[in-house]
Amino acid sequence: MSTMVDAQLYPWQQAIWQRLHTAHKAGRLPHALLFTGADGLGKNQFATAFAQSLLCNALSDSGRPCGQCRGCHLCQVGNHPDYKRIEPEEAGKAIKIDTIRAFVDKGVLTAQMGGYKVVVIEPADAMNSAAANSLLKTLEEPVPWTVIILVTSCPGRLPATVRSRCQRTTFPVPPRKEAIVWLKAQIEQGDPSLFLAMASGAPLLAKSLAAPELLQERAQMMAEFQAALNGQQDPVVIANRWDKLELARVLNWMNSWLIDMLRLKFKAQPPSLYNPDQCQCLQVMAQVLDSKVLYSMLDRVYEANRTLNSQLNSLMVLEGILLAWANSKKITIRV
Ligand SMILES: [Zn+2]
Repeated sequence: MSTMVDAQLYPWQQAIWQRLHTAHKAGRLPHALLFTGADGLGKNQFATAFAQSLLCNALSDSGRPCGQCRGCHLCQVGNHPDYKRIEPEEAGKAIKIDTIRAFVDKGVLTAQMGGYKVVVIEPADAMNSAAANSLLKTLEEPVPWTVIILVTSCPGRLPATVRSRCQRTTFPVPPRKEAIVWLKAQIEQGDPSLFLAMASGAPLLAKSLAAPELLQERAQMMAEFQAALNGQQDPVVIANRWDKLELARVLNWMNSWLIDMLRLKFKAQPPSLYNPDQCQCLQVMAQVLDSKVLYSMLDRVYEANRTLNSQLNSLMVLEGILLAWANSKKITIRV
């Protein structure tokens, strides 16, 4: 069982906290909550903090856990008998039916300390269909004083039947100004507005991108991406190098470049780009490519992303994408 030491709230989450706390105080808290919104907004930390507040025996008026009571102590050491986190055994793998069954069984769901029983499932979209069906039975016959919190950035991957039985809370991207103030205080160097653009405005994701080695990796990838297009470097050699990097991140960079090139083709000004600092390179490439070709590249990257967890051969995927990319100019001439 993981600990709840990190039960902090981010500034952009205050309004949502207030709303849920008010519902809790009024006894109107639903038995199933669905937290959605982009990655990098701190949904998971929020779910942890909210769970702790439900298990606190001396909640303050603001609804923040007191940090002193027995419930809080047990949460802090990660040993509260009425709190359970359900996650995949390994990142990127499915949450299986046995895992769900073990915790949604009625006997197990009854609280041991006479208060709430809280179950957090994260990421909820990792449940395979058998697991989701097993959970559905519990959602249809709620156990009093049990709160199930599903956390996901891809709610569309959950069965509609599961979604419809949860009360949904969507975490919004914070206003740019607020996010920049927060980010500035968090990072040691670099331009917060650039990191925020790269992260589509999600502050925690932006913070994770502020590492110099990541920016270096991205700059080198951009040079190779351009060289492949111009026939100056072998796409297979590049694929071999990229295969040693984290595939999700590689696909993410390519995805953001292709979208930016399409935006530039439709004359969007630099501030609305994911990669404003690479605008010039992107502009040069966008000029020699047809938008149809860019859309078809985007489809390839999207498809690779969609099947990311089941990719057995990431090198083959990257080779396929980069070979098509290296051919893009020729195809453009033919269109
Ligand atoms: Zn407490």
